Amino acid sequence: MTDTRQTEWSVVLTPSPLQRVGAFALAAMAEVEHPEQLTPAAFTFVVERMTNDLVATRKVIKAADPGGFWLGASYMLWPNSKINPTNRGKQSHQQREDAIREWRAAPGPEDRLDAPCAYCGREAYTWFGKVDIPLGASVAHRNTTARGHQGTPLCYPCVACLWAFPYGSTLSGGRAVLIHSWDDDFLAETTGQAVDRTERAASLAMPKGVKPGPYARELAVLHAVRAYGRRITAPVELMVLSNSNKEQSLATQELGQPVAEWLRSTRRSGDAQAGYKALVATQGTKQVPGEAFLAKRAFARPSQVLDFAVGHLLTQISATVRLPSEIHLLSPLIVSYCREVLTMDDKDVERIKALAQRVAGLLSKDDRPGPFRDFIRANSKGGNLHGWFRTKSVDWLLYPRPEGATPTLLPVQDYRLLFEDDRSWSWRRLLVFAVIEALGTAGWEPKGSKEEMQEVEEAAQAAGADNEEEATR
Ligand SMILES: [Zn+2]
Repeated sequence: MTDTRQTEWSVVLTPSPLQRVGAFALAAMAEVEHPEQLTPAAFTFVVERMTNDLVATRKVIKAADPGGFWLGASYMLWPNSKINPTNRGKQSHQQREDAIREWRAAPGPEDRLDAPCAYCGREAYTWFGKVDIPLGASVAHRNTTARGHQGTPLCYPCVACLWAFPYGSTLSGGRAVLIHSWDDDFLAETTGQAVDRTERAASLAMPKGVKPGPYARELAVLHAVRAYGRRITAPVELMVLSNSNKEQSLATQELGQPVAEWLRSTRRSGDAQAGYKALVATQGTKQVPGEAFLAKRAFARPSQVLDFAVGHLLTQISATVRLPSEIHLLSPLIVSYCREVLTMDDKDVERIKALAQRVAGLLSKDDRPGPFRDFIRANSKGGNLHGWFRTKSVDWLLYPRPEGATPTLLPVQDYRLLFEDDRSWSWRRLLVFAVIEALGTAGWEPKGSKEEMQEVEEAAQAAGADNEEEATR
């Protein structure tokens, strides 16, 4: 009976992100949707194609020469491997080809080990070492072998996935940059796009170190997420790794599922897109464009997106002493961001909006800017918002209230959100936003003497300047 186990290779997905990206890269190269759809013949064909890509470098003298892409990448991905030995300069073209083919050859029955594959648990063939298993491929993020062991036992399809993951990455600046997610459909689409890009790039030489813009990698993930057509069901990971001799490194950042899905939703309608543009405009600094900083914050500290949006509005108020008109464009996005990303409870968001109506009612009793200034001042980081509410609660009792308004300015539930909640600062920023919006809707504008207006300007500047402080941390 013929033992077909050696030749009927099949790819399965494992808990290793790098193996998964590689599996989807193989699928993309074979033009199937899922790695499980790879037939043994298609698998053999695409592995052969990768080998041929490496063999094509045999005539190249230096990695920077045209056709040297995979030779250049090999120093970062597979140092000390058969494609880049120290005596490469002395090898003939044929010797180079033979060495590469020997390295990438399918194992035979004699290579079978009495050990399970470290990734998929199926029968392993050959011990693989650092050459084939980059840092980040193992669950423990180590690619060094324990003393007395020859390497890591792997099956041929899993090691082929590790050879393939660079196709599903962006290779530049001495790093492989990957987008991974446990959402298989999203991973299939983004990996497919990366494979197209890599194959285009490989037809040229390895790109020279073009200095990318700030947070370019995070921004690329944001673009991928926003371009995706279906609901994203899992977090999206950004992995940056190098396996080179000089520097082994792996850095992983995670974009939470709620913020990924929210970013995607900002393309749903024309209104949402206009709102997104207005939001992006609130996120930038002198050094970093708005969308790049939005991407960075979405990864690192999603609550800062709200802080910066409100801080930017306050800075604008300080510059013009007028209520910014884009607040109405921003409003639906700010509210959905609070609900979906910052997971603020719907009922609580409604509470803060109702509170903002009461506050705006008090502030707009006349058009003198003083009360508005005091409210803004109380909302800066060192401000006494608690004291402000204490004073204004008396006014609220003394003056006629709008019809249907609660007799208490700051009910106990609202008090808890603003002063006792873990996200107090976010609730306060939402309150400031909603108050400015309510004043804008009521058509209120501050009018006063030059000195009074300057005080508004200073208060808004102080409350908006908290952003700069946050940005430099
Ligand atoms: Zn395996």
